Amino acid sequence: MTKPVPSFVTHEVSNQPPLIGHYNAWTGDAALREAVAREGGGWAQRELADFGAVAGGELMDLGYTANQNPPKLRAFDRYGHRLDEVEFHPAWHRVMELGMRHGVHAFAWRHQDTPGAHVARAALSYLHAQAEAGTSCPLTMTHSAVPALRHAPVLAARWLPKIQSLDYDPRVLPVDRKRGCTMGMGMTEKQGGSDVRANTTRATRQADGGYRLVGHKWFFSAPMCDAWLVLAQAQDGLSCFLMPKILDDGTRNAIHIQRLKDKLGDRSNASSEVEFLDAFGWRVGDEGRGVATILEMVALTRLDCMIGSSALMRQACVQALHHAQHRRVFGKRLVEQPLMRNVLADLALESEAAVALTMRVARAVDASARDAGEAALARIATAIGKYWICKRCPPLVNEAQECLGGLGYVEESNLPRLYRQAPLNSIWEGSGNIQCLDVLRSVSREPRTHEAVTAELLAARGLDADLDREIHWLGEAFDDRDTLELRSRRVVERTALALQASILLRAGNAEVAQAFCRSRLGGEHGLAFGTLPADAPMNALIARAFSG
Ligand SMILES: Cc1cc2nc3c(=O)[nH]c(=O)nc-3n(C[C@H](O)[C@H](O)[C@H](O)COP(=O)(O)OP(=O)(O)OC[C@H]3O[C@@H](n4cnc5c(N)ncnc54)[C@H](O)[C@@H]3O)c2cc1C
Repeated sequence: MTKPVPSFVTHEVSNQPPLIGHYNAWTGDAALREAVAREGGGWAQRELADFGAVAGGELMDLGYTANQNPPKLRAFDRYGHRLDEVEFHPAWHRVMELGMRHGVHAFAWRHQDTPGAHVARAALSYLHAQAEAGTSCPLTMTHSAVPALRHAPVLAARWLPKIQSLDYDPRVLPVDRKRGCTMGMGMTEKQGGSDVRANTTRATRQADGGYRLVGHKWFFSAPMCDAWLVLAQAQDGLSCFLMPKILDDGTRNAIHIQRLKDKLGDRSNASSEVEFLDAFGWRVGDEGRGVATILEMVALTRLDCMIGSSALMRQACVQALHHAQHRRVFGKRLVEQPLMRNVLADLALESEAAVALTMRVARAVDASARDAGEAALARIATAIGKYWICKRCPPLVNEAQECLGGLGYVEESNLPRLYRQAPLNSIWEGSGNIQCLDVLRSVSREPRTHEAVTAELLAARGLDADLDREIHWLGEAFDDRDTLELRSRRVVERTALALQASILLRAGNAEVAQAFCRSRLGGEHGLAFGTLPADAPMNALIARAFSG
């Protein structure tokens, strides 16, 4: 006998995908695994597999919770004393703890004598940012501060062991009493962010060799860090300083948090406006060499912008592919509908090209100390890659969102969070135009960088006619110096695409490489995603991207 249906049951839930559940974000990502192996980080696959399980599991759940519960500023205690603290949800702290335990901030330095350590760290960061991008900000700044800090050997001896520790220690204590420390960065002021020479914060040298800083910073992310590298005007010009949160005597440095920014995305992370009221700082590098010193940090954070945007693209693809494999429309699964196959394959192709270029640049960074050619490539390809990959991220995430239909517009699907985060990497650490101008600066001032990028393209000459034509075009594109600045977005974009093609062609997956060259270089593609030619290997691209 059939059970009577209670009158208040409207209908059964059907045709909704199962929860994506916990998965291993490393083992399930063929493009990532191959790129890491190709670029010399394959020896870390055990660590990457361990962290891949965390990133596709606990970290995903925590990432959602941390973003639903953004940080709060506690400027004062109940009696009006200044606190200048930021209060985070426990989920944020747990994400930081897991990220640091697995070395997202420190792996490259802890293994710095092993070639490929930066590639492996880039992969850790890629896995992390898929689950929670806000914590990537302090983690990347902690990682990136190391080369700049080395300009002050005494400070480095004291701070680097804490920076490279795997312990997350959020306690508010002087450096010597901490188990591990995190780092931030303060360059941007109200009157100028791209043009840091406009900084007005003053630094006055004291008798003991330290400095007192007076001024403000308009964007000061991760104000809960233990120290920051900041720029300020000293007697001999713009200089770099290490400002600790807590002074050696245990008192708080005079860094007042004015307010937290109400941001589009990046909501789990705090970004603040601060004032320095005779705050203490140690100089890092020579007076007047501040920009050159802090650029050593910025070079690495820019690579991390490539990593972060590639990660957002990957996660958006995972969500879209999972959904399309289960949702049925007009009698078929979405993934079987020809037009949706084109969209999904195109997104997967873009995501693979992004991670391929990112890991190639990570290898160039890794080899910089040993190989002048790789150092030159890292110098220019970071700007090229940051420009292009960060530009591709918002439209890709939006297209992935559309694959989920209305659900992609709803917070629980994670797509809205990815979408809000997507534009950030193209803005901070030097916005798009600044990256293009940086490419031009390196081409004119450091010709080796142009030679390095040309060599990287020529390594694939003869493998594909479209790439050969593109190499020829690029050979002349940099010549007309009078109009180059006006044309530079187009030139940088085409250089990025040619680099991606060169890497994919040599990687050995003919279906991926040919689909990329035909669509991105050969003109067989529209302005939107989902416009691959009809005979592109869509099923293979989809199957390679995510098996579900
Ligand atoms: C969420 C968030 C967190 C941040 N955290 C930090 C932080 O922790 N520390 C920190 O120091 N900064 C931080 N920033 C600041 C960020 O790095 C700057 O916003 C960025 O560098 C741009 O500077 P700006 O805002 O002053 O814009 P501007 O410098 O005024 O630039 C505006 C636009 O003009 C373009 N432009 C500039 N110069 C040229 C030119 N010559 N030719 C053509 N176009 C040009 C730029 O590309 C940009 O598109 C953060 C920003 C955001 C959004």
